[in-house]
Amino acid sequence: MIAEEVVHVNHRHVIFTIDEGLRIIFQMHRELLKDLMDESVKIVQDWFKKKHKVTPGIIAGLHTSGARMNFNPHVHMLVTRGGMKKQGEWKIYDYIPFPMLRKQWQTVVLKLFIKRDRMASTILSLLMN
Ligand SMILES: [Zn+2]
Repeated sequence: MIAEEVVHVNHRHVIFTIDEGLRIIFQMHRELLKDLMDESVKIVQDWFKKKHKVTPGIIAGLHTSGARMNFNPHVHMLVTRGGMKKQGEWKIYDYIPFPMLRKQWQTVVLKLFIKRDRMASTILSLLMN
């Protein structure tokens, strides 16, 4: 049975958001939303791998609107409190360094903009208005 193979672990709810002033860029270039979700998962995975050498379990979902139904892209993640070692052993780690991950997130978002050539003109026009 599948239930017998599931590891019972606690999790945390992690949300990565976009600054209100930058949301318009994602609204105009919705093709970036997939990258947004992939990159947020990668940041959390990379931290666990680098710090503890484990692979965490992550379920991610992208929301494109906030409570006021405004365009507000953000990524919800359920992240296990720990992860699997290469040998299959489960290790519990409760701490997630949110301030550090937040800085990485900001860098990743800016890199997403820069990566796309066509974004340059959008950013320039926003800055000039
Ligand atoms: Zn949401």
